[in-house]
Amino acid sequence: MRELVGTCESCGKDVFCLDGFLNGVSEAGRLECFQCADVEEGSVHPQDQGNSE
Ligand SMILES: [Zn+2]
Repeated sequence: MRELVGTCESCGKDVFCLDGFLNGVSEAGRLECFQCADVEEGSVHPQDQGNSE
């Protein structure tokens, strides 16, 4: 079962809900596909901060 949820705020791609799984990320009213969400997360490295010596 596939349900159109909306379009990605970044690239405009359609984001679907597949069998209850959202084919993207919905955060703070923003809807993004996994690809765009990955790019944003990739630019931030929260894990690096706990790596100080
Ligand atoms: Zn996108």
